[in-house]
Amino acid sequence: MDCILCQKTKKLCDSHIVAEFFYKLIYDDIRRPRIDPFKALTPDERERPIQKGWRSPLLCEDCEKNRNTFFENPMKKYWIDNDPIQVLNAQESVILKDIDYASFKLFHLSVLYCAHYAAQRTRNSPFSSVNLTAGDLDSIREMWWNRDAGPYWKFPIVASANQWPDGKVWRDWITSPLSATDATDKAYLLFCFGGCQWRYYLTPVLTPWIDKRCLKDDGSMLIEKREWEPMRQCAELVAQSN
Ligand SMILES: [Zn+2]
Repeated sequence: MDCILCQKTKKLCDSHIVAEFFYKLIYDDIRRPRIDPFKALTPDERERPIQKGWRSPLLCEDCEKNRNTFFENPMKKYWIDNDPIQVLNAQESVILKDIDYASFKLFHLSVLYCAHYAAQRTRNSPFSSVNLTAGDLDSIREMWWNRDAGPYWKFPIVASANQWPDGKVWRDWITSPLSATDATDKAYLLFCFGGCQWRYYLTPVLTPWIDKRCLKDDGSMLIEKREWEPMRQCAELVAQSN
């Protein structure tokens, strides 16, 4: 198999899709149930424990290092070490203004790109709902390769923070991604890690709703706290288990 970035036939690493440091939030917290709330809500399916970071043969060593150095390390420093959404424990929304646009956006696009290939290369992949077109794959690969995040309206990213019923942000929740459309029929893929639900829009058409919230190339982004029905149900499970 070829490396999904440089496309050379080289020995491939067991690459993660969502970086391990997001899973660490889960390992560190033993108070919460280790289930996938979306799966728990499907009557036909048993609750499925959240797996340790999912891996798949995707990148050669050089490209793995490239991803780590340029996207993952800056993301860990900004999102985990700086913890910019901490303020949402006490307020409903925040406008972040100090995001490094290129590394932050390309980090997210690399998750999306890797998830697509993980679904193709690994059986029973939790990323099976991610199925990008050849055109989108080519665009993302080129952006990653050139480390050019493009204009903000190209693959816009919208985030909302997971609100636990006590009003705090719930960080230790990682789910299988979902393919969905919003109220105006724009297609996106929903990933959940790092305390947020991330919408990766595939269409270049901006609606006012997306435009108000998505990551901008000046490094700003509005993040609102949202309580979700799956989270309310999960909270009830926690209450029952205590
Ligand atoms: Zn490579």
